[in-house]
Amino acid sequence: MSQTESQHPPDNASRPWWRRIPLTLQIVIALVLAVILGIALGAGNPSPSNAALITNLAIPAELVLKALRALATPLILVAVLHTFMTATIPGTAGRRLALLLFTNTTVAILVGLLVANVLRPGTWGSLPKPQTTIANANLDPWGLIKDAVPEAVLAPLVSNNVIQLIVVALCFGIVLRGLKSEQIAQGKTGYQPIEDVIGILFEAVIRILNWVIALVPFAVFGIVAKTVAEKGFAPFISLAAFIVAVLVALVLQACYYLTRVKFNSWVNPWRFLAGGSDAFITAFSTSSSTVTMPITWEVLQTKVGLRESSASLGALVGANFNNDGTALYEAMSALYISQVIGQHLNLGQQLIVVLTSIFASVGAAGIPNAGLVTMTLVFTSVRLPTEYIALLVTVDWFLDRCRTAINVMGDMTVSAVLDGKKPRYEEE
Ligand code: ASP
Repeated sequence: MSQTESQHPPDNASRPWWRRIPLTLQIVIALVLAVILGIALGAGNPSPSNAALITNLAIPAELVLKALRALATPLILVAVLHTFMTATIPGTAGRRLALLLFTNTTVAILVGLLVANVLRPGTWGSLPKPQTTIANANLDPWGLIKDAVPEAVLAPLVSNNVIQLIVVALCFGIVLRGLKSEQIAQGKTGYQPIEDVIGILFEAVIRILNWVIALVPFAVFGIVAKTVAEKGFAPFISLAAFIVAVLVALVLQACYYLTRVKFNSWVNPWRFLAGGSDAFITAFSTSSSTVTMPITWEVLQTKVGLRESSASLGALVGANFNNDGTALYEAMSALYISQVIGQHLNLGQQLIVVLTSIFASVGAAGIPNAGLVTMTLVFTSVRLPTEYIALLVTVDWFLDRCRTAINVMGDMTVSAVLDGKKPRYEEE
C-alpha cells in the first residue's frame, strides 16, 4: 500500500476521549473486564439462567468478523490496482524484485507450516466449538487452477474468492499501468481520473476498516467473557501455545533474512540489525509497516548505507506487496485452528493454504490488524470455520506487532539484496 496522508490516524485532539486511549490499551482493558465478567458468570460452570446473555456476548465479535470478511475483497482489489497505478518500478529491477518477494514470502509460509506441523500448538489444549459446522472438503490443486478464472468479473467480490480476485486485480492493474505509460508518452492525461477514483476508493475502504478496528476491543470483551464464562481458562492455554509457536517461526524467519543478507549482499548482518533497529521498534510500536515506511527508507540509506534506488525498491515499492510476517501468520493460524478442531489438512490442502496465504499477504494493507481481514479468505479456501478467528483476535494485538516487525525486516532484506555485493562508497 502506498503512503497517503489520510491513512494516518486523524489528529488525536479532535477525537473523543475514549478514542484517544491507544487501541492496545483499550484491548488490555477489555481483556481484564472480560475476565472479571467471565468469572462472575461462572468461569466454566455457567448458571442456566445466564445462558442467553452468555450466548449474546458473541454478537460484537460476529459483527466485526462479518465486516472484516466483507471488506477483505474490496481492500485487496483497490490496494493492488492502486499500487500498480502509482508505484514506479524500473524493468529488470522489477523482475528481480518480484522474484525476491516471491521467494521470501514462500519461505516464510513454509517456515510457518513447518513449525506448526512440528510443534502442533493446536493439540496442546482445546478451544470451544463455533456454532456452525462446515464439512471438510478435499480440495485439489488442479481444481484450484481450473477455478482461477471467475465466471464474471465482479463475481469474486461477491463470493470472496481471493485467487480469482487477484487474477482480476492483476489483469486490470497491469493493463491500466500500461495504458497510463502509453498516455504519458503521448502527452495525454486521460488516465488521471481513473487513478484518482482508485485512490479515493482505496482511502474510503481504509477508513471503513478503521471504524471496524475501533470496535475490536468490544469484540475481544464479548468473546473472552463468553469463553471464560463457558469454558473457564483452558482455551487460553491453547492460545499460549499458539503464541509460542508463532514467535518461534518469526525468529526462524529473521534468521533466514540475516543469512540472505550475509550471503547475497555486501551488508554485514550486525550492521543490518543495528542500523534497522529504529524501523523494527517503530514497526513493533505502531503495528503498521506503512506508517514505518519512511523510517525504513531513511535508515536503509543513512544507517545501513544502501543506495537510494535499492532502499526505494525494497522499502517503498516492495513494502506494498511484501508482508512475509503476515503470510507466515495466516498459514500458521489456519493450521493451528485445523489442529484445534481435529480437521486434518492434507498436503494438497496445505498447498492451498500456501497459495492463498501468498495472495492474502499481498492483499493485506500495512496497517494494524490487516492480516486478520485477509485471513478469512485463507480459512474459507480450505473450508475452516472463520468463527474461530474471533478467538485469535484476542491475541492479535501482540502478534500483530511481532509480524509487522518481520514485515519491515523482509522489506529491508529485499533492499539489501538488491544493493548487491558492492557497497555504494566503493563506487564513489
Ligand atoms: N500490521 C501489519 C503491517 O502493517 C499487517 C498485518 O496485520 O499483518 O504490516
